[in-house]
Amino acid sequence: MANEALETFRAEAAEWLKNNFPSTLAGKGMGIEGEMTEDTRADWETWRQRLTEKGWGAPTWPKEFGGAGLSHPEAKVIAQEMGKIGAVNHIPLIAGMGVTMVGPTIMEYGTDDQKARHLPRIASGEIRWCLGLSEPNAGSDLAGLSTKAEIDGDTFRINGQKVWTSGADISQWCGALVRTDSNAAKRDGISFVLVPMDQEGIETRPIKLISGASPFCETFFNDARTDKSELLGPLNQGWSVVKRLLQHERQSQTQAGTPRATGSRKSLQEKAKDYVGTDAMGRLADADLRNRVARHLMDAQAHSLTIGRITAEARGNVEVSAAASILKNSATFVAQTRAELNLEIAGSQGVGWEGDHFSAEELGNVKDWLFGKAMSIYGGSFEVQNNIISKNILGLPETTQKD
Ligand SMILES: Cc1cc2nc3c(=O)[nH]c(=O)nc-3n(C[C@H](O)[C@H](O)[C@H](O)COP(=O)(O)OP(=O)(O)OC[C@H]3O[C@@H](n4cnc5c(N)ncnc54)[C@H](O)[C@@H]3O)c2cc1C
Repeated sequence: MANEALETFRAEAAEWLKNNFPSTLAGKGMGIEGEMTEDTRADWETWRQRLTEKGWGAPTWPKEFGGAGLSHPEAKVIAQEMGKIGAVNHIPLIAGMGVTMVGPTIMEYGTDDQKARHLPRIASGEIRWCLGLSEPNAGSDLAGLSTKAEIDGDTFRINGQKVWTSGADISQWCGALVRTDSNAAKRDGISFVLVPMDQEGIETRPIKLISGASPFCETFFNDARTDKSELLGPLNQGWSVVKRLLQHERQSQTQAGTPRATGSRKSLQEKAKDYVGTDAMGRLADADLRNRVARHLMDAQAHSLTIGRITAEARGNVEVSAAASILKNSATFVAQTRAELNLEIAGSQGVGWEGDHFSAEELGNVKDWLFGKAMSIYGGSFEVQNNIISKNILGLPETTQKD
């Protein structure tokens, strides 16, 4: 889309937001669950309905599936205009793994019936999805999974255990990777099934994290059922389906962090000067820290320019590919370094857990730093991404990892 047309679109988007975004929600929504208090609940619901009518919950999805059929640059404009007024599109958050991962995979592999039944309810944020991939003995070596699904009449009967299932206790549907042929080679006997969570055969047990939150669960399948029509992609070819889904997951993890709603809008270098002080030339007083902050800012800029370049080269139609592994790792590196620096510059103020003598931002930084450790694990660990990069992008010989 030409710049002029994009600017016209920007003006229309800003006007629509002015008329439709409930001002009571301005600046809210980074931790959506925590912030949906009783007095804002009705406004969040109104906002969800308006976004849904406009198709802006998943703006790049086709209109027939609940999106707005917009290009990536147009979707970016909407996000920018939302940012200006403190609005957030909360639908991808309340849909769990729906908008970023399960939805795009259903769009690619689903039957017409699956697309019609599942996609609009993801784009509207009505249904939350979780992902049942990892198991106690199958993480990086995902193809070693042992949760079994056996065909029984018109259904699959599922038995086994998943772990680290984000949001399993509050999701209505799960995309699960299951073994459907125990005699085949390990990657050939796997299928991807869509499973309703509200049934007796599924039990979820939340796992508490070091950061205090409890965002994921152990999930037990005990004669759980799903209809045969919920098989996504061909039987025993779930490995191809999940590889694609994981590319979508990594693609959604390529942003190196968003600012907190509670945080100041000051840059890292400004905050560093506030805490550490300046020298006679007005520079950050600690020369070693100054070097590391500068290096981090260059890395962050290089990461963001790389994403910009890829988007520009694709003329907005970014294809999800193995390159997502590179961006996921560089996003992880940038975000984790920033979290470390945020703590370090604040000195003893940077290690608070609770108490009035710490600001909300200081306390938030500690939680971000702890949660940031997860970034090099979920969606496939840092090392596993390096294996994928070496084999699938650089063409180096096989390592321990086959995909
Ligand atoms: C916040 C969070 C949310 C998550 N959400 C979900 C979810 O919703 N659904 C889901 O199914 N899973 C989820 N996971 C699980 C995640 O996908 C796994 O933790 C991840 O794949 C790693 O598996 P593992 O924990 O079993 O570690 P392991 O596979 O045991 O790995 C341990 C260490 O060994 C290294 N390693 C392993 N194999 C290799 C190799 N071949 N080469 C080099 N190094 C290797 C790893 O890099 C890692 O450092 C989540 C994890 C986190 C942290």
